[in-house]
Amino acid sequence: MSVVTGSQLEFDDSYARELPRLSQPWIAASVPAPTLLMFNEELATELGADAEALREPPGVALLVGNGSPDGVRPVAQAYAGHQFGAYVPRLGDGRALLLGELVDGGGRRRDLHLKGTGRTPFARGGDGKAAVGPMLREYLMGEAMHALGIPTSRALAVVTTGEEVMRDTMLPGAVLARVAASHLRVGTFQYAATSGDPALVRKLADYAMARHYPDAAEAANPYLEFYRCVIDTQASLVARWMLVGFVHGVMNTDNMTISGETIDYGPCAFMDTFDPATVFSSIDHGGRYAYGNQPRIAQWNLARLGETLVPLIDGNTDAAVEAATDALTSFAERYEGYWASGMAAKLGLDAPDQPLIRDLLALLHAQRMDFTQFFRALSSHLQGRPARSLFTEPEAFDAWAARWQALVPRDRNAVTAAMDRVNPIYIPRNHRVEEALTAATDGDIAPFRRLVEVVARPFIQRPGLERYAEPAPASCGPYVTYCGT
Ligand code: AMP
Ligand code: MG
Repeated sequence: MSVVTGSQLEFDDSYARELPRLSQPWIAASVPAPTLLMFNEELATELGADAEALREPPGVALLVGNGSPDGVRPVAQAYAGHQFGAYVPRLGDGRALLLGELVDGGGRRRDLHLKGTGRTPFARGGDGKAAVGPMLREYLMGEAMHALGIPTSRALAVVTTGEEVMRDTMLPGAVLARVAASHLRVGTFQYAATSGDPALVRKLADYAMARHYPDAAEAANPYLEFYRCVIDTQASLVARWMLVGFVHGVMNTDNMTISGETIDYGPCAFMDTFDPATVFSSIDHGGRYAYGNQPRIAQWNLARLGETLVPLIDGNTDAAVEAATDALTSFAERYEGYWASGMAAKLGLDAPDQPLIRDLLALLHAQRMDFTQFFRALSSHLQGRPARSLFTEPEAFDAWAARWQALVPRDRNAVTAAMDRVNPIYIPRNHRVEEALTAATDGDIAPFRRLVEVVARPFIQRPGLERYAEPAPASCGPYVTYCGT
């Protein structure tokens, strides 16, 4: 199927067509007064859409699922997942629909997915709806990550519905339209494996391989190679999160993609002061998804993926398990490699120096240093504006800085510029996010729009934006985020 809409979006439905057992056709709930609140013009254009047409009522109807053109058949995707370590055999899109796949002029295929479109057969106890605050939060976080160069789903639009949804209080409802390389998750494989039909896992793996890792099909053992590819792309992704202080917050296997993109921005947040134990989510009591646990959890999730692939890797189960285990074991080395080279870049060094990095992190932790502010200040330090004033006990920093500076290449201007290209000055700081979302929920979208503009160019310092670069005052207290809202 290929459908071209009035807005020039070209839809396909390869997932629904090729894997009918992994989704259910479903229609979005109709909403009384869809109004475009946020629209990602840049992304719309990238997708080959007629942005002006998408802003018009038929376009807005499309973005809430109420105006699906003839031939577009939305589906709720089925998946399972380990939530906080406990297996749930049937999760699926409880409040979301895959509208279809957009294939742009360059042949790149991406899902257009709507969140907040009403209860589906996977809704369990939920109301199927979404409130405007959390959908804007996902919009903002995706744009920030994209601007930081980190693979991510991106929001195309947030449309308010004209309905109220009940949470702790009544809140304005919204639908998020987002675009992702795909919504294939570790949990999709778990769902297929739980069906008890090995042919279904094979079909899913073939589909995923063709869509994301076509070269793997040429390998001697394509399914093992596919597994290695996912391991590598996730090792790289999580390293990038760690390097900017991103805490996903709910790394359940249903929220981990096969493509290697970040998805499902729920209780995520950026770390303020450096502490591996940082947790924001109100329900993460044990710290399972704490900042410092993310690489370990990624590997745990990938082990769950590996279990589903064992029958495909080798007819001999022992041999398959051994091969999959070997592949999984490589995660640590791959992750360390990505992380250490990223750290070297943050420090302006040609190569990582492990003791130097280790001692720095201990120093940042001990002195409760703001992670983002510190790395940005380091380039200024090279230009004669010492970073020592950030520290409560600057002597410890002085000693570390002397070791560091001895390793920094001579061309200080080049090093400074390179550091400023990897150490952001503007990230979605928690107190600014909260401020903007509160205003938006109360009807003033201007601070949110401003914040999106700020984080969309994270590396270039601009006058007048000092308030976005400053850490939260201590009076803000610990920051808490919520899931499933
Ligand atoms: P999450 O871990 O937040 O990505 O979502 C976990 C599961 O809960 C998914 O299957 C979602 O579709 C489902 N879910 C979350 N919120 C709702 C809601 N309000 N109504 C229905 N299902 C929901
Ligand atoms: Mg999810």
